Amino acid sequence: MNTIQIAIDGPASSGKSTVAKIIAKKLGYIYLDTGAMYRCVTLLALRQGYQAEQVDLILADIDRNPISFGLAKDGSQTVFLGDEDVTLAIRQNDVTNNVSWVSALASVREKLVEQQQKIAETGGIIMDGRDIGTVVLPQAELKIFLIASVDERAERRYKENLEKGIETDLETLKEEIAARDYKDSHREVSPLIEAEDAITFDTTGISIDGVVDFILQKALALQEKQSIK
Ligand code: C5P
Repeated sequence: MNTIQIAIDGPASSGKSTVAKIIAKKLGYIYLDTGAMYRCVTLLALRQGYQAEQVDLILADIDRNPISFGLAKDGSQTVFLGDEDVTLAIRQNDVTNNVSWVSALASVREKLVEQQQKIAETGGIIMDGRDIGTVVLPQAELKIFLIASVDERAERRYKENLEKGIETDLETLKEEIAARDYKDSHREVSPLIEAEDAITFDTTGISIDGVVDFILQKALALQEKQSIK
């Protein structure tokens, strides 16, 4: 069976990674969480106290501490910076609230996009982020743009955070999500924008299974089409 490339983009907490992980498992594809990569770079920058003007130092730090992914005993994905497991560290509030300025740096994006495209060469892939359908995999056979109301996204993030032991206030989360959406959509380089050939799916009030089924049906049909070409 031939494989395809699936790009899932959308604003913060729109359910991208949850559904992408499930679909990857069902199709036997690689799942790449590109947001985790920008979070890793943000963690490096914060630890060193770097500012946007010190982008060359940030780039050198990425070379010294390569980003990689692993699997935890329970099957969940882990994220590494060099030898260090940073899976939890990159989800903390200080990283979340600083990731937008780091991801707006053109040379950081260039470096990470190159790594993401290399990973995509290895076979069937489902990647989630903000610029996958527009910049990273413009040739992807299936592009989905997931959206949901800010209220629902904040509630989802609130529950996720609780499960990870991260304390947050719901109203603050709503403000942070809206602020991050604004910054991600208005930056100069690769802003969060729907690809022309993407399918937009509003997941407000829709279960995870509902979203997974929708994308999976489309993916299976495209995979089938590729195989009889
Ligand atoms: O997906 P997640 O919310 O973890 O992404 C964290 C941040 O990383 C986003 O708010 C955005 O600033 C940045 N990002 C990006 N391009 C991507 C993925 C994430 O700019 N492809």
